[in-house]
Amino acid sequence: MSLLRQLIRGSTRWSSSRRLDIAIPARRPFHSMFRPHYTNVFPGAEIGSSRQRIEIENPATEEIICTVDAASPADVNAAVTAGMKAFQSGIWANKDVNHRFDVLIKLADMLKSRMSEFAKYESLQTGRPIREMNAQLARLPEWLTYHASLARTHTGRIPPFKGKMLNTLTYSPLGVVAQITPWNHPLLIAIKKIAPALAAGNSVVVKPSELAPVSVLLFAEMALEARIPEGVLNVVCGLGAETGKALCEDSRIAKIDLTGGTETGRAVCAAAGKNLIPVTAELGGKTPVLVFPDIEVERAVKGALFASFIAAGQTCVTGSRIIIHEDIYDQFAASFVAKANALRIGDPLDTKTQVSTVINRASIDRCQRFVDQALSEGGKLLCGGSPAPVNGKGHFFQPTVIEVTPEMALANEEVFGPVIALIRSPSPAHMLATANSTPFALGAALWTSSLSLAHSVSQQLDAGLVWVNTHHNNDPSSPWGGWKDSGMGKENGVEAFEGYLKCKSTVVNWGEAGGVDWFEDNKGARYG
Ligand code: NAD
Repeated sequence: MSLLRQLIRGSTRWSSSRRLDIAIPARRPFHSMFRPHYTNVFPGAEIGSSRQRIEIENPATEEIICTVDAASPADVNAAVTAGMKAFQSGIWANKDVNHRFDVLIKLADMLKSRMSEFAKYESLQTGRPIREMNAQLARLPEWLTYHASLARTHTGRIPPFKGKMLNTLTYSPLGVVAQITPWNHPLLIAIKKIAPALAAGNSVVVKPSELAPVSVLLFAEMALEARIPEGVLNVVCGLGAETGKALCEDSRIAKIDLTGGTETGRAVCAAAGKNLIPVTAELGGKTPVLVFPDIEVERAVKGALFASFIAAGQTCVTGSRIIIHEDIYDQFAASFVAKANALRIGDPLDTKTQVSTVINRASIDRCQRFVDQALSEGGKLLCGGSPAPVNGKGHFFQPTVIEVTPEMALANEEVFGPVIALIRSPSPAHMLATANSTPFALGAALWTSSLSLAHSVSQQLDAGLVWVNTHHNNDPSSPWGGWKDSGMGKENGVEAFEGYLKCKSTVVNWGEAGGVDWFEDNKGARYG
C-alpha cells in the first residue's frame, strides 16, 4: 500500500483531510476507462507548481484507477487569480444574460449526450451502483436549465419608499466564489452549486473531494468546450486541510459554498468569518423516519428501505433512525429486516446490484465501530453487522439493522454507512420528541395516512426538509438545506440563485426640483 493511501486510510473520519507531502504515483494507474492522470482545470494548470498527486481508488476492487493533481497553495492562488482575471474582464459577468442562458443550455445538452459515460465514472470512483448513478445523473441537466432560466427571468424590484423617491433594487454577481464538495454525489452536488453561481455571472473555483474528483474535472473540461470562458470555471483537486483550506482563506474569495461534514463546516465558517464573507453550508444529518400506526405498514417499509440503503446509507439525508410507533413495531421490524437481508450486494457496475460499497477502508472501520458500540450499549442486532468483501475484495458492509433506544450513540450520531437504527416509540409525542433530540436538523420523513397529522408533525419537526410518505426527492426548484449543526443557507431554488448575487438599493429623488437645504432656518428640518 502506498504511503498516501495509508495516510488516507488512517484518517479517523470516513473521508481524509490530512496533508499529502509525497510525490507519487507509486504504482501504475489501473482502469482503462480513465486517463492515467488528471490535471487541475484552470488556465496554466498544466504548468502549475503542483507536483503532488492523489491516487483514486475503486472502492469495489481496491485498485487504483488513476491519479489527480493535489493542488498546492500556489496552485490555489493561481486558480483564484484566473477567476479574478476572468471576472474583472467582464467576459462572463457582464455578458448579456441571453448569452449565459445559451451557453448553460448547451452545456446541459452536452451533459445529456455523455450521460452514461459520466454515470460510469461516478460509479467507478464512488462504488455506488450504476443503477443509482444512471437515475441520479439523468436529472442533472435540469439544474443547468433551471438556473439558466432564472438568469433570463430574474428581475430587480421597486419597493415602496416614502416621499417622491424611486428605490430600485438591482443585483450583480459576487465575484470569485469557492465551492467545496464531497464524494458521495460528486457531480450532483458540484452542479447544484456551479449552475446558480455561473448563471448569476460569477467566476468559480471548485475543490472536489479528494476521494472522487474525476467527474467534476471532466465536467469543467466539457464546460470549456461549451464556451464557458477560460478562468470562469476552475477546479483544484487536493486534500481539504491543504487545498481546501488555502482556497477558503484566500481573501479574494467572495463566498464559500460547502457541502461536507459538520466539523469541516466549522473550519470553513471560521475562515469565512475572518474575511467576512457569506457561507452556504450543507452539512451532516441524522434523518429521522417517523412511522405512524395508521399507515399501511408495507408501504412504509418499502419507503424506509429506500431511505436507508440507497447509496449504502451514504447520503446526508439517509433515513438512519426509524422511529416506529409500538402498535406496528413488530410487524414493521420483521418486514424491514427481511427486506434488508434480501438486498443484492455486489459489483457496482452490475445493473442488478442494489447495495454496493462504502467509500473506503476508514468508512468500513467507522461502520464497525458504530455496530460494536451499539451492541455494547445494549442494542439488539437484527441483521448484518460485518464487512462483506466480494471475492475477498472491496469496501462492502452488510446492510445492518440494530434496535436501539433514543439515548444510544447510533440513534444520535451520523454513521454515513448502511447501519440503521430502529427505535420503538410509545406515542406520537415521544416520536416527535425523539426526532427533534439530536443537534442535526437537515431532513426528516414521516409516514401516515392522516393529512392533519402530517401537517401538524411537519410543522413541529426540527428540519429544513420534510418528506411526507416519500423520501430523497429533490428538484432544482425546491430549496434544500438544514438548520442547527446541519448548516445554513439553501441549495436549489431562487434562494440558491440569489445567494450568488449581491443586492444594491438605489434611491432617486424625483421631486424637490430646487433640492433641500437642511441648514436653512425653519425649513430644512424635514428629511426622508
Ligand atoms: P468532508 O467534510 O470530509 O469533506 C467535504 C469537502 O470538504 C472535501 O472536498 C474536503 O476535502 C473538504 N475539506 C475538508 N476539510 C476542509 C477544510 N478544513 N477546509 C476546506 N475544505 C475542507 O465530507 P465528505 O466525507 O466528503 O462528505 C460526507 C459529509 O458530507 C457527511 O457529513 C454528509 O452528511 C455531508 N453531506 C451533506 C449534504 C447536504 O446536502 N447537507 C450532502 C452530501 C453530503
